Amino acid sequence: MITEHDGLTLVAGGAGFIGSHLCRTLLDAGERVLCLDNLQTARRRNLDALADHPNFTFVRGDISQPLPTAVMREARSIRRIYNLACAASPVLYQADPEHTLLTNVVGTDRLLRLAEQAGARFLLASTSEVYGDPDVHPQTEAYRGNVSCTGPRACYDEGKRAAETLAFDFARSGRAEVRVARIFNTYGPHMRADDGRVVSNFIAQVLAEQPLTIYGDGTQTRSFCYVADTVEALVRLMRSEMDELVPVNIGNPAELTIAELVETLGTILGHNIEVTHRDLPTDDPRRRRPDIAQARALLGWEPTTDLLSGLRRTYAWFAAEHRRAGELRPMLPATETGTEPEVARLSATG
Ligand code: UDP
Repeated sequence: MITEHDGLTLVAGGAGFIGSHLCRTLLDAGERVLCLDNLQTARRRNLDALADHPNFTFVRGDISQPLPTAVMREARSIRRIYNLACAASPVLYQADPEHTLLTNVVGTDRLLRLAEQAGARFLLASTSEVYGDPDVHPQTEAYRGNVSCTGPRACYDEGKRAAETLAFDFARSGRAEVRVARIFNTYGPHMRADDGRVVSNFIAQVLAEQPLTIYGDGTQTRSFCYVADTVEALVRLMRSEMDELVPVNIGNPAELTIAELVETLGTILGHNIEVTHRDLPTDDPRRRRPDIAQARALLGWEPTTDLLSGLRRTYAWFAAEHRRAGELRPMLPATETGTEPEVARLSATG
């Protein structure tokens, strides 16, 4: 059996929002962490905060390309691989859709082959987006989803679905030991203010004294999970022993509408908030809520941070960032602003 103190843990996407929290948790638990990230959508300061730790090594690289030598020469020491490498907010993953798809398919294949070579356990950070715009509610892992394979979200949704397929095929044929987490909306400190997601946009807009941009009429629902809860579940899943391989939903089942999210922020601020309405993006899911019975049973896990406490902490962190940086810019879809999101274009084939 592999214990967490053996060998190296590779975290692909470790400079990102969830990835940087995961690296910190693993380092605190005594693991040696090798972080591989292309810095395409990462927040650089997340990396700066980890860089001085003696058990932390950073390698810049893009998993859709051949893996860097600095990673391959550690292959014999790698015991665990977490794959969180992909732009994850709709605005950012749609900025370079070919790269998003290939990151999930080609990149996951490269990391699975590395897991096979190293004899490492592999955890795929998959997503609630595999359920698309769900017609089953709440979403259990058995639900097969309602995904458009030609729409603007397909690069991410279908990419993650194919990544799950690859992971299961590697596991079925005994090539790698695999875990698959389906992560639902996660929020918390260390998000990019300009990643375009609803929580970061709304808080950045409050701090910039701008009206909050509700897409559509605000009756669509999401279920928001505080990042510390998500990370705890990922670590438990990686360390779990499973008789049968199943994907596991990781999220907070407390569901609310986007209009209710605005009200919750109003409660935190102690005043009403001005809103403005924009078009609902194409294929925006109407409802989303995880059924987490399986996570409870297999991992003994459920979220412990309620939305009000988590949002208070997140708001406090963003407010401190706002004081430090002078301004925070929300990110609206390109058609709204006439500008392109600031995402490095990474040639998928270059
Ligand atoms: N949304 C919104 N205003 C924003 C950003 C997002 O109303 O400024 C909505 C979006 O249309 C979706 C929900 O909030 O219905 C969650 O969007 P997000 O981009 O955070 O993640 P998703 O769950 O769509 O992947």
